[in-house]
Amino acid sequence: MAILGIRIIGDPVLRTPAQEVTEFGPEIQKLVDDMEQTMENVDGAGLAAPQVGVSLRVFTYQIGKERGHIINPVLELSEDFQPDEIEGCLSIPGISAPVPRRRQVVASGVDKFGKPVRIAGEGMLARCVQHETDHLDGILFLDRLAPEEKKAAWRTLRAGNYEQTATATVAQRAGFLGSSFGAGMGN
Ligand code: ZN
Repeated sequence: MAILGIRIIGDPVLRTPAQEVTEFGPEIQKLVDDMEQTMENVDGAGLAAPQVGVSLRVFTYQIGKERGHIINPVLELSEDFQPDEIEGCLSIPGISAPVPRRRQVVASGVDKFGKPVRIAGEGMLARCVQHETDHLDGILFLDRLAPEEKKAAWRTLRAGNYEQTATATVAQRAGFLGSSFGAGMGN
């Protein structure tokens, strides 16, 4: 297994809709294993393949005891929303904000062997699944912020030292431990 480099906002791969996975051989199995190891290494709540530069519809997640991966997820969302919680993103270091998300989600897809899997949940798990599936569509949590929050986030992103800060964060990630929910979900 290997720890993969995490792409940072500005990288076009984060804005590219990812492709469906059609082959379930050793390559996809290795990608999932490497993504799980990478996510654990940075203590992230989730990691989508575009975040490691691979434009395929795959993500891994770990929310408490709920952990795993899903490939080619299709979501069913409840109509209603859950209370807003602060989210962050491993690809957007240093920025976190409350994000509106649907209350409940059921994600259907397959695992790294091509066998059907289903993730169903509410709260943080539902939030994580929506955040990661957004990554597969080239959407970042910034896109979902209320106008005021969005303005503030982009002000930080455009500030002269953001790139420097982001680079420093990436360099420090081996010891990075600050991505629990509420303190800015890192995923
Ligand atoms: Zn993210």
